[in-house]
Amino acid sequence: MSSPAYARPVPPRARRAAARGGSPFDPQETPLARTRRARRMARELALIHPDAHCELDFANAFELLVATVLSAQTTDKMVNRVTPTLFAKYPDAATLAGADRADLEEILKPTGFFRAKANSVLGLAQALVERFDGEVPARMADLVTLPGVGRKTANVVLGNAFGVPGLTVDTHFGRLVRRFGWTTEEDPVKVETEVAELVPKREWTMFSHRVIFHGRRVCHAKKAACGACGLARWCPSYGIGPTDPEVATKLVKTPAASDTE
Ligand code: SF4
Repeated sequence: MSSPAYARPVPPRARRAAARGGSPFDPQETPLARTRRARRMARELALIHPDAHCELDFANAFELLVATVLSAQTTDKMVNRVTPTLFAKYPDAATLAGADRADLEEILKPTGFFRAKANSVLGLAQALVERFDGEVPARMADLVTLPGVGRKTANVVLGNAFGVPGLTVDTHFGRLVRRFGWTTEEDPVKVETEVAELVPKREWTMFSHRVIFHGRRVCHAKKAACGACGLARWCPSYGIGPTDPEVATKLVKTPAASDTE
């Protein structure tokens, strides 16, 4: 099987600080140097993952909001399998708010934790009807008042349904920007604030998709494919995973396989 186009065999180079037991975050790096490096890496990510996009299927803000809530603890692909049935039957907040719970649970069963998820989407739909006339609000301050909606979900909706730039800090995003040495923060809100200083606002939504694609396909939690990573040149964590291009290329996941994380 040929390797995906986003596998970039890396010429031999020394393993970097983090691979030798140090921290990827270099306190000596000036804010200007870090910003320049971050922007260079962001540009490279756009070349590596030109196909990056929101992997949840949706036709409007309501569908994206519900799909994002359903994507907790499961894959986007699994959510995409149930949402056509869900939205055919409950196309808006008003119909979903009045849904029969048993019927809803049956539809959501394949996504796991279906009782909790049925509760979440019912509560969400009811709040939309009661407080926003059944419409999804287009402001962060309103979105985060909805049950089950945090900044991550709100940013997905703002960025992809309303065209308002947003950084989506999920587990991939947090892991990667720490490996990049852009932040040491673990708290998603703090990570969001620090990365917002480094990446131009207009790029936030697409940048988030690209980082998440990179996390799913190349820079895995357990075995980062460093020897096949197009960011190796600028990444202080180069070498935390195999650096041999042949070994690393085998670790790179195809789009189909990358949806399992
Ligand atoms: S795969 Fe390795 S080189 Fe690439 S971003 Fe991840 S840690 Fe850095």
